[in-house]
Amino acid sequence: MTAVLGYMKWRIKPDPARQTPIRYVQCRNCEEKSPIEGSQAECDLWAMDHAGRTGHRGYREFAASDLIATPVRGPR
Ligand SMILES: [Zn+2]
Repeated sequence: MTAVLGYMKWRIKPDPARQTPIRYVQCRNCEEKSPIEGSQAECDLWAMDHAGRTGHRGYREFAASDLIATPVRGPR
């Protein structure tokens, strides 16, 4: 996405320093949550292990991507 804000044109794009979304899973039955991981498989393993230990069956997955804003040079 590109927009002109405050006399300068900006572009927002995925941060090249972190291209993989960060993820974690939170149990909906207690306060426990998985470590922040890069892969869905690791989050799924945490949830299955938690279910095996506690019997808790409800989970919520969170995933987020880092973005970076850069000024666009050149004529508007
Ligand atoms: Zn739980």
